[in-house]
Amino acid sequence: MARPIRVAVVGAGFGGLAAALALAERGAEVVLFERLRYAGGCAATFTHRGRRFEAGATLFAGLGRTGLFTRWLARHGFELPVEFPDPVLEMCTPAWHIAVPASRAALVERFCALPGAPREGIQSFFEEQGRIASALWKILEDPNSIPATTAELLPQIKRAPSLLPLARWIGRPLTAVLARHGLAGFEPMRSYVNAVSQITVQCSAAEAEAPFALATLDYFHREAGHVVGGIGVLADTLVQAIRRCGGSVSFTNAVRAIRRRDARWVVEARRGAQEFDGIVADLLPQSIAQMLGDGVGAKRLAALSRDVERGFGAAMLYRSLPASSTPQGSSHFELIADPTKPFVEGNHIFGSLSAGENGAGERSVTVSTHVDLSVLRSLDEQQRGARVAEIQARMRATLDALGPEWVRHPELEVTASPRTFERFTGRWQGFVGGIPRRAGLRAYRGWLPAPIDPGLYLVGDSVFPGQSTLAVALGGIRVARRILNDLL
Ligand SMILES: Cc1cc2nc3c(=O)[nH]c(=O)nc-3n(C[C@H](O)[C@H](O)[C@H](O)COP(=O)(O)OP(=O)(O)OC[C@H]3O[C@@H](n4cnc5c(N)ncnc54)[C@H](O)[C@@H]3O)c2cc1C
Repeated sequence: MARPIRVAVVGAGFGGLAAALALAERGAEVVLFERLRYAGGCAATFTHRGRRFEAGATLFAGLGRTGLFTRWLARHGFELPVEFPDPVLEMCTPAWHIAVPASRAALVERFCALPGAPREGIQSFFEEQGRIASALWKILEDPNSIPATTAELLPQIKRAPSLLPLARWIGRPLTAVLARHGLAGFEPMRSYVNAVSQITVQCSAAEAEAPFALATLDYFHREAGHVVGGIGVLADTLVQAIRRCGGSVSFTNAVRAIRRRDARWVVEARRGAQEFDGIVADLLPQSIAQMLGDGVGAKRLAALSRDVERGFGAAMLYRSLPASSTPQGSSHFELIADPTKPFVEGNHIFGSLSAGENGAGERSVTVSTHVDLSVLRSLDEQQRGARVAEIQARMRATLDALGPEWVRHPELEVTASPRTFERFTGRWQGFVGGIPRRAGLRAYRGWLPAPIDPGLYLVGDSVFPGQSTLAVALGGIRVARRILNDLL
């Protein structure tokens, strides 16, 4: 009998978890290496002074009745406790406030009710946005519809007519769509699309590739869910599913080097070396380049690294609050102190109140903002610390000015910076959140997975389809299909 294909997955972020589970389901012998003692990476739940906090990601697609995670876990006999907040979040500037409902039609009504609203433009913008989003979300909801090999491309061609509405916007920024509907001068819509673009496609509406940004504007209308107990519960459940399928998950076992030995790969990890037929690395290209160390895939890794370096880091505030002072259910907010300034560095923050208590009879709040790492990296150690402290002070000022009353009186506050992400999740120089989908054909590069070297693939938010926990999971599933196709 032929021996099973052995694949090492490096990193138990959602890209690695999904790849490992998809590989184990298909009969591969999988070892998932993780440097920390828990899974999830940027979408993990960590414990500090007896309280559980969500490290970064808090609000997720794919958890609804028909969502990818729900269907997948059900196949393995698991069910997740999830809250679906409605309104999904409160968006506030000093001039206006909108409770963003789960229904797109209800959101249109709220915008139309604002003073001076150009009603027809708002309606026609959301009609067009909804058409494009529907075409693209079909792909996000079905892992088999995102091709992994050229052979899988052909059946997808029948889908082409449904993608026609987005053809006119390829290579153009989201603000061009706003302008077409006469909304360029309507500040609330401008700020809304800027705020959603920044947290999803990781850049402003003026920069964002329109089809991606129009699709991700549907994020709040696709059963956006918050896991009770934190997203770490979903990561832990995926670990259990991998183990049930015979896969091995090895925590506190950081990979230090990867090298070729004839047609196989050797993975040198903290607890020893092992040989594999293939490798799936849930790492930034800079990290895998360091591990390979001998110029393997150097050109491709350098190009991917340049894309990563056009992205952002994150600054965080984690607060623990008396449960009695907080509202029922999870709650999310997006606050913009000054809509005329860039939506980064404390001027724009995203906050989430935990679904459920945090283990100390309190509730946790995770607050994040984007940090421009091109500036931070040009500073010396001391200046960096001062700059991050300034950004965190601005986050507190925005919270105090526009945030809900209950968030202002924490029992405990913990902070994090790009350096914290680098230290815990190994994200090179603290780059997180994925590659910004800026306008241009370059945004579609890498849409079919390609190996860095035969039998070695990257997954995660630095490769297509990129950002968000759902997107990296889809990417992990299709790379699993692709690598087995290569190795069998
Ligand atoms: C502040 C913030 C807020 C976000 N909010 C949301 C949100 O609300 N919703 C959403 O869907 N997405 C959100 N995202 C994006 C999403 O969390 C990430 O894009 C996604 O989780 C990234 O997953 P990944 O698999 O690419 O990598 P990561 O999560 O970075 O995982 C990589 C894993 O590899 C491990 N590792 C690193 N080096 C080694 C090594 N040498 N050996 C072994 N293991 C190693 C790390 O410890 C980590 O577990 C947010 C991101 C951030 C930073």
